[in-house]
Amino acid sequence: MPDVILVTGGTGLVGRAIQYVIETEPEGSRFGKKPGEKWVFASSSEADLRDIKETQKLFEKYKPTHVIHLAALVGGLFANMKYKATFLRDNTLINDNVLHTSHTAGTKKLVSCLSTCVFPDKVTYPLDETKIHEGLPHHSNFGYAHAKRMVDVANHAYKDQYGSNFTSAIPTNVFGQYDNYDLETAHVIPALIHKCYLAKKNGTPFVVGGTGKPLRQFIYSRDLAKLFIWQLREYDDVEPVILSVGEDEEVSIKQVADAIVKAVGFVGEYAFDATKADGQFRKPASNKKLLGLIGDFQFTPFDQALDESVQWFLQNYDTARTGVKAA
Ligand code: NAP
Ligand code: GDP
Repeated sequence: MPDVILVTGGTGLVGRAIQYVIETEPEGSRFGKKPGEKWVFASSSEADLRDIKETQKLFEKYKPTHVIHLAALVGGLFANMKYKATFLRDNTLINDNVLHTSHTAGTKKLVSCLSTCVFPDKVTYPLDETKIHEGLPHHSNFGYAHAKRMVDVANHAYKDQYGSNFTSAIPTNVFGQYDNYDLETAHVIPALIHKCYLAKKNGTPFVVGGTGKPLRQFIYSRDLAKLFIWQLREYDDVEPVILSVGEDEEVSIKQVADAIVKAVGFVGEYAFDATKADGQFRKPASNKKLLGLIGDFQFTPFDQALDESVQWFLQNYDTARTGVKAA
């Protein structure tokens, strides 16, 4: 029987990037499609994974041998601060349904997606895979963080009780084509790309939330996609792997905003609104484990990846996930 790989959340930022890599890398290559493989990219309209019956139906329909589980309620700092109970509940339901159905359907391998938000707020840096449960996550996103942390707990429980081949990936902040550009709920890069675009179009100031001083590690969705494909095929251990550029590649929110101003070609007034939250100041994560396992891997330089993402947004504004189209 050929392998069937089900990607939950296959229509989001990361899912679309995996689809792009699978369709564009040479067939049979390390990140390309293997002969005979079938890839399925599922959306929420095909199955609402908060519902166990819909989850079971999806698995019955495709009979996946392998699952990359990306589906989640996802949002930036401001959405996480506002909707903590919804982030906790939706993601807990989705994860429980996908993990348990993968188990009952006899899926051979499951890679689920966590986030560096799962790590404790008060912890020694850099973050590494051993530190997830060492303390409470940052208060700004503790609903999402606790739901995601429990996936690591569940992976160990299923392995110990049933011998399941379940594991997880921990990406740092992701950006790229097909992101969520909603002005209120998006992550920082897509939110600022959209805001800068509108400022240029309307001749209004470009206003960045917070002080611009916090630091983040960003990974391009197309690089992350390759790392997920690697983890699915070449990594068989329950312990998570941080999928990220090096901890020496942190950039400040101001540097991000500067790069967006340049890529959009914005020349107007540009300011920081320090009344808005900064969130965690930094959360540098080590990619030492990843690099030790994968060998050689070339990350796309940040400025190039950002420019490609901005150009994609400008060319696809009419269909991009911008929420309500602003004037
Ligand atoms: P995204 O663009 O918002 O996509 C979310 C995906 O999940 C979409 O395909 C969406 O389907 C699906 N989904 C949401 N609710 C669902 C439900 N109830 N039932 C079924 N499917 C549902 O998010 P993303 O950025 O690609 O995130 C993918 C994974 O990466 C998530 O697990 C997230 O936690 C993780 N992650 C993201 C970042 C980041 O910076 N973006 C950082 C670290 C980790 P529809 O298209 O039908 O709505
Ligand atoms: P986080 O890493 O989970 O905090 O995710 P975000 O992608 O939401 O990044 C938040 C950082 O970007 C904080 O320091 C915010 O103050 C800053 N930021 C600046 N402007 C915006 C914006 O318009 N949206 C978001 N989400 N963050 C912004």
